[in-house]
Amino acid sequence: MSGFRVPACAICGRPTWPPQLACARCGAAEWTEVDASAGTVVEITDAPGADGTPIRLGTIELAVPYPAYADIGDGGRGPFVVARCEGCAVEDEVRLELLEGVLRARPVIVSK
Ligand SMILES: [Zn+2]
Repeated sequence: MSGFRVPACAICGRPTWPPQLACARCGAAEWTEVDASAGTVVEITDAPGADGTPIRLGTIELAVPYPAYADIGDGGRGPFVVARCEGCAVEDEVRLELLEGVLRARPVIVSK
């Protein structure tokens, strides 16, 4: 089990996915990595799989902290990723992990 991590600019802190050659905000090409294993489903697509079994894909906004630039540009929203999303629905909070090269999201069960 490995958590999902994304590059973040070492100068301004902007997280990005997919990886870029240079930061879209400040142009720097120095990177660190930040944890990106949590996010929220914003869209669901059921795609036909190779064997006819539908594959549920989720577009997920990553919950990567990005407070310093929340007032400009993309409004501080996290990068978006597409992941296998079995059992997910829109607005679900999910945990992301890379398993055997496939990014998978699983709903977080919130006990009440
Ligand atoms: Zn930057």
